[in-house]
Amino acid sequence: MSSSSSSTTSSSTTSSVKNTSIPLPPPDAEIYHATCRFCNVGCGYDIFVFPIYKSGGPAKGQNAVVYNMNDQVFNRNLVNYQADYTSPVIPLGANYGTPWIGESMVTTTLKYNTNTGNWEPVYILEVPSSECPVNEGNYSTRGGKNALRNWSPFNDNAPGFKVFSTRIQTPLIRWNGSLQPVGWSYAIDVAARVAKYYMDNETTTYPSPVGPAATQVMAIRADHGGGQGGGVFSNLMPGLFLHMGLATPFVRFHYEVAFSFTQDALEEATNGNGTDTASMLDISIADVLVLWGINEYSTSTVNLIQHIFDNIDGSTISRKQTWFDPGEPAAAGNIIIVEARPSETVHAVAAKLGVSIQDAMNGNSDQFLFVQVNPGTDSELANAVAAYIYYTYPDVVNHFVQLYQSASSNGFAFNQDTYNYYIQYLQSKSLSDWLSEASSITGVPQNVIQKMGDMLAKPKSANGSTFYNRVLMEFEKGIIWSANYTPIYAVANLGIITGALSGRPGCGVSTGFGHQRGAAFPIPPPPPWQSNLSEGRQFFIQMHTYVPQQLKASGQTVSGTTIAEYIKNFYNQYTSSLVPQIYQYNPIIDYLIYSGYGKMLWMFTANPYKQTMSGEKLSQVLDNRSRLLQECVENTSSLGIPSSSSNAGTSPNYDTSAVAPQSLNSPPQTSTLVQ
Ligand code: SF4
Repeated sequence: MSSSSSSTTSSSTTSSVKNTSIPLPPPDAEIYHATCRFCNVGCGYDIFVFPIYKSGGPAKGQNAVVYNMNDQVFNRNLVNYQADYTSPVIPLGANYGTPWIGESMVTTTLKYNTNTGNWEPVYILEVPSSECPVNEGNYSTRGGKNALRNWSPFNDNAPGFKVFSTRIQTPLIRWNGSLQPVGWSYAIDVAARVAKYYMDNETTTYPSPVGPAATQVMAIRADHGGGQGGGVFSNLMPGLFLHMGLATPFVRFHYEVAFSFTQDALEEATNGNGTDTASMLDISIADVLVLWGINEYSTSTVNLIQHIFDNIDGSTISRKQTWFDPGEPAAAGNIIIVEARPSETVHAVAAKLGVSIQDAMNGNSDQFLFVQVNPGTDSELANAVAAYIYYTYPDVVNHFVQLYQSASSNGFAFNQDTYNYYIQYLQSKSLSDWLSEASSITGVPQNVIQKMGDMLAKPKSANGSTFYNRVLMEFEKGIIWSANYTPIYAVANLGIITGALSGRPGCGVSTGFGHQRGAAFPIPPPPPWQSNLSEGRQFFIQMHTYVPQQLKASGQTVSGTTIAEYIKNFYNQYTSSLVPQIYQYNPIIDYLIYSGYGKMLWMFTANPYKQTMSGEKLSQVLDNRSRLLQECVENTSSLGIPSSSSNAGTSPNYDTSAVAPQSLNSPPQTSTLVQ
């Protein structure tokens, strides 16, 4: 593939490196299919692996970029398609079957040849798949760098390409204040020996079959997401190791403070039916899309620019007609964004629709509403919108509630008691009180709250018939990390009364779209202070049963209002106290670390400094604790460890030269590149 222009520099500190060519995979390249590693959308990628001396050619049939998919849902036929690179790739060529392949989609690494017994240099190309219905060849700047995530002993991709020098080529160990490269076997040996010590010593004994548990080991681990098998396989191994081998109860996920659920409120509101209720197809045909605390443009890029944009610009109207009821109106979708600030997504949608952000905020557009809410007040907003709908569109609410009730005979368990409490709560104030109080708390003008209710619930009509909106709501860390339980439950309830949880095509309430939550691992044991250790792990407190019990036990009236007040106080305590009530079931790992507990911290596929609510505090505490430990070890002369790095190489414990990787620092030379 030719490159028509050379790179230029805008700064004297950046050297220009001319891009000359991208190696195309030969027809006999190994081909694998995977989802992107980076975000919840799960875009499909085709992975080509081939020796560096054996590139393919640009003409049809000379390369391995070949598709054979007839996607009848999204109406794309790529049967017997062969990519042609003899002329420049057209814009968005991947949509039509010929993906543009950028330099960051190529990496060079080593592969073991079982025939020759040698390690041989190979190219790995990770190319957004034109066949995949999720992305249709599209990708974000994150996904376009999937190839660079592969381990490699080399610094760059291919001769002549810009050097990517940030790659970590070996494990690193901190010695005398600086990180030093060590070999893999050395790193594995160190980690295994320390872990084994805590498996054999300083344990807490659980009932069979858990037995001794390494309670001095704390862990922060990924639990889902990412492609390349990340959802299942890369979670199974740490799961077996941490939860079964070490059996420590002190584990938390990468994005949560405890071993809990992100969306326990949604699980509860839907009686265990939970999240992940929508598909790409649903989002492309919804009448009303709600993005609540989710910055799609930055975090689920392809979902926004491919599927949401197709919906709101009217490209999917014929698809809607296929899936909607006979006679049901189908038009370009409407979109509501609830955010504490005008995020990148707000700007992108405003640009796409040609609506100014000011108009979107003031409720002047019937297609795009931007609801700028004061941080942490989302529950008040959701409940006020729900109250407006309840008072203004009672027929809509009754329609969906009757639908849920009748679906009970098909196994759908609608929680009537919880719903009754919810309605009591909505009835506890007049509509004008709801609107004025919510407006002063949330900062959202009353007319915008009403506009949001109208956009969600006002029925469609055609030829004298009434049709109910297909509402799809997505939420993410904007409410997960602000207060979690209360706003998510409020959004779920809003989803119930607007039919977003009705299970119809184009509907849903879920965390960020696509979320590939395939995970497989055993559950860790309960914390050692739990009274009955054989009861197993409890993930969260079921508030709809817990709160009425607590109110009755203290002689208080059980009503929608008293339950709501109890829950608000409960979660205020959660965020304001060091040891929240839920701690009895799910230890907050970061609090334990702050408090000096734990002797080994295992982090797996997680970046907790960026992904916890107090990342700066956590980083300071970890840095301080690890430095103190290191100084102590290095300054204890009886251990025989040298006190400076100058003689570290001769130390039996820190002989880094003996375990350094072989000299593979120069990139391999290629002779056959496609020009
Ligand atoms: S939107 Fe980007 S990061 Fe997310 S899965 Fe697709 S390519 Fe990967």
